Amino acid sequence: MSTTMAALLLSRVSSMSWAKLGINSYQAARNAPPFRAGMQGATFVVSWCLCKPGFWMLIRQGFKFELLRPTGDQLQKMARFAGACRFVFNQALALQQKRHTTGDKKLSYAGLCEVLLEWKTDAATAWLRETHSQILQQSLKDLDRAYTNFFAKRAEFPRFKKKGVSDNFRFPQGYKLDQVNDRIFLPRLGWLRYRHSRGVLGTVKNVTVSQSSGKWFISVQTEREVEDPVHPSTSMIGIDVGVACFAATSDGTMIAPLNSFKKHQIRLRRYQRAMARKQKFSQNWKKAKARVQKLHSHIANCRKDFLHKASTTISKNHATVFVEDLQVSNMSRSAAGTAEKPGKNVRAKSGLNRSILDQGWFEVRRQLGYKLVWRGGKLTPVPAHNTSRRCPTCGHISAKNRKTQAHFVCVECGYEGNADVVAAINIRDRGLSIVKYEGQNFARIACEVSGAAMQPAAGTHRSDSDLASCLA
Ligand SMILES: [Zn+2]
Repeated sequence: MSTTMAALLLSRVSSMSWAKLGINSYQAARNAPPFRAGMQGATFVVSWCLCKPGFWMLIRQGFKFELLRPTGDQLQKMARFAGACRFVFNQALALQQKRHTTGDKKLSYAGLCEVLLEWKTDAATAWLRETHSQILQQSLKDLDRAYTNFFAKRAEFPRFKKKGVSDNFRFPQGYKLDQVNDRIFLPRLGWLRYRHSRGVLGTVKNVTVSQSSGKWFISVQTEREVEDPVHPSTSMIGIDVGVACFAATSDGTMIAPLNSFKKHQIRLRRYQRAMARKQKFSQNWKKAKARVQKLHSHIANCRKDFLHKASTTISKNHATVFVEDLQVSNMSRSAAGTAEKPGKNVRAKSGLNRSILDQGWFEVRRQLGYKLVWRGGKLTPVPAHNTSRRCPTCGHISAKNRKTQAHFVCVECGYEGNADVVAAINIRDRGLSIVKYEGQNFARIACEVSGAAMQPAAGTHRSDSDLASCLA
């Protein structure tokens, strides 16, 4: 798999949407957010109320391609640029940490850029001048964002970068993408060929060059505005993810797991042992290491391919997908515990952890989220309790309903079925009840918007009875 599509972010154009709808009323604008939050059927009702369809959506999408046959000079330069960016990132991180211990304030991005200029004039680090200055600034920007994410509790504290691990650098401008001739111009590197496996859509915002297991790649980040899509399907399903079965849907479809890591585990272990026998940093050790890395990236590519195919199929066929609101990061947390308080079932839990992480539940949920929105659908998490124990026909909840891991038999009414599918049906039912509840609130807001659009005569006050008649 030479290219992978990575969706980065997605947001909606709020001010434009409402301008295009022609709503000037402050009241309507105030009511706008619940609609755009993606409530079921929102587009339909709004266009019906105001007789003018059209929300606009901003899609940010990344397109990743392998670079083909870079020259020796280009390879050398790319390795050097990645190294310089890593150096700047690590130096800046060390500086920030030092300032923290001495009680100084954290430097802003602009402050870091000034320090970078000092490093460039310093004789010891004057070699930084050989690198394109903007890519160095971009790695300072990355550090700044890493801090922001840490303070917002979205990420762990930024870590020092290691050589060979996610080597990359980013050009914010100066590139030229020539799709007709399958090539791209990058500042200081010149023209490079790439594996043109798909067309790039939208305006290019930046280009990242990265290295993985000896191959170099470009990721072209783009932005484009599309009219809010309407999903071709109206179906709503629940999905249950499990270890034995990757995903079961409430309509009875089962997707078998790929377990790419498990499949290659024996070979990987053999390669790793071979590497351990070699003398460290010798030529043979380097060869053995490359073999291990290649297998690692093969495993990762198999997994990416599988997850993308699964999430694309689901998002194409169903408009609303309900999933369990599970915290994958909590579930896969190690059971080892601390020295004073050792964890229970460490071995069993670590086996489960490995299969949870191997199957990429979190990743598939993330992909489902944006792919559904792109097609006009929606991913809705629902509370997870008792979904595997509840009978979908009579509602009886009991652990005895589940005699084995795979089979479900209700002790009250005798309903039988596959345990994973039963869980998926329960998830769907719970999701539908949430949608129904939201739908009532939604109808109320829709009434308020249509009322505001009609502009009531001065001095009149709309009472709640108007809303009641709306809901009736
Ligand atoms: Zn039952």
